[in-house]
Amino acid sequence: MSDCLFCKIVAKEIPATVVHETARTLAFRDVNPQAPTHVLVVPKGHYADAAELAQADDGLADDVLKAAHAVAVQEGVAETGYRVVFNTGAGAGQTVFHVHAHVLGGRTMTWPPG
Ligand code: 5GP
Ligand code: ZN
Repeated sequence: MSDCLFCKIVAKEIPATVVHETARTLAFRDVNPQAPTHVLVVPKGHYADAAELAQADDGLADDVLKAAHAVAVQEGVAETGYRVVFNTGAGAGQTVFHVHAHVLGGRTMTWPPG
């Protein structure tokens, strides 16, 4: 999608700090981090939200989840605990409509989130 911010990051048209990449996923640091580790994991193809990703073929959602865990290991937060969040829909706080998993860690977190 030509007007999608994260498609532009995937296409390297907009810079981002990439921390992990596979054939079908890209992970880069959130520009406005909410925790010491705050990385966004996206499929390289465009899916608007987690609901669309869940219906994607051939294990793409699995790839995104595996990439999120690989990022947590790489960032050193897998042992201490981390959170994987898909804000899905504007009512849940989604602002960029190219599905992304937030990987958050490195600080104590409370539940429920705000
Ligand atoms: P959402 O609110 O859709 O769940 O999350 C969108 C996230 O994208 C936010 O945490 C926001 O800080 C991040 N973000 C917005 N624009 C950019 C950008 O241009 N580069 C990067 N790396 N992150 C961005
Ligand atoms: Zn996109």
